[in-house]
Amino acid sequence: NIQQSEGDLLPRYVRVNTLKTTVEDAIDYFKRDGFSYLGKAYRLDDLKLKGKSFVADLHLPDVLVFSAKTDFHDHYLYKAGHIILQDKASCLPAYLLNPSAGSVVLDACAAPGNKTSHLAAIMKNKGRLFAFDLDAKRLATMSTLLLRAGVTCQQLANQDFLKVDPDGSQYKDVEYILLDPSCSGSGMVCLRDEESSLQKDSGRLKALAAFQLHCLNHALRFPRLQRLVYSTCSIHTEENEQVVAACLQQNRSFRLVPGLQQWPERGLPPFTQCLRASATKTLTHGFFVALLERHTAETLKEQ
Ligand code: SAM
Repeated sequence: NIQQSEGDLLPRYVRVNTLKTTVEDAIDYFKRDGFSYLGKAYRLDDLKLKGKSFVADLHLPDVLVFSAKTDFHDHYLYKAGHIILQDKASCLPAYLLNPSAGSVVLDACAAPGNKTSHLAAIMKNKGRLFAFDLDAKRLATMSTLLLRAGVTCQQLANQDFLKVDPDGSQYKDVEYILLDPSCSGSGMVCLRDEESSLQKDSGRLKALAAFQLHCLNHALRFPRLQRLVYSTCSIHTEENEQVVAACLQQNRSFRLVPGLQQWPERGLPPFTQCLRASATKTLTHGFFVALLERHTAETLKEQ
């Protein structure tokens, strides 16, 4: 099957969990474990590795890259929570949101929590990290994952994000929101093995897009919100650029800001401030990320 083999060819990405170790120590550990370190990658082609060689990623400072099919599920560093097995594209949202240590952050659709643990690492476990998910089972998995990753600043709730009151007193200082809602999953290369999942089910896409826009509009109601990242693992414009376009039309006090200028694949015009990811152009699963910020008096004048 063609799509299956496309997934097998993607590099293996490892995010170093800086709550438990440093990138330098993780590199040293892998070297002692028989892997050969080729230094920092400078071009995308440097990520096409063979055998037991590895590099530091060219875009994301906490990401190490190994050859396709390298399996770390039994590795000490994974079991000890020092590394997180996460596709590079899914490391973009927390990296772009970049909440400061000590801030109040909300992860709206959080389970199983890889992005939550990434946010906690960026916050250095300082501040407060509210994380919601509707699915109790996924939330239970998430608790285990966060424990292993050494996350301590979280407050988990098995709750519908759409029912969280933005004016609740506990949320009055929320400045950052990560919104990674349910989507079609059409970007996940390994899930694309069935012909049917590649064909667009327009009814389902419409319902998903309506849900995603509803979540986005709800998130923008938090009174002190400054910065929000919206992401999906979908390749369909209906769930990506079109959701962002509708949201911006309905929320004039927020604007799109360009994220990671060196990233090679951008949102479909005119939404080139957004990032897209794909197996062919970024050697990752298919992904979409938009970064929104509240207008300031300055940026409103520039409009
Ligand atoms: N951000 C997660 C991560 O990086 O591990 C993945 C999130 S997944 C794409 C979407 C999640 O949204 C699912 O776990 C689903 O249960 C949850 N969800 C769906 N509707 C929701 C709602 N109304 N409120 C909160 N969570 C919801």
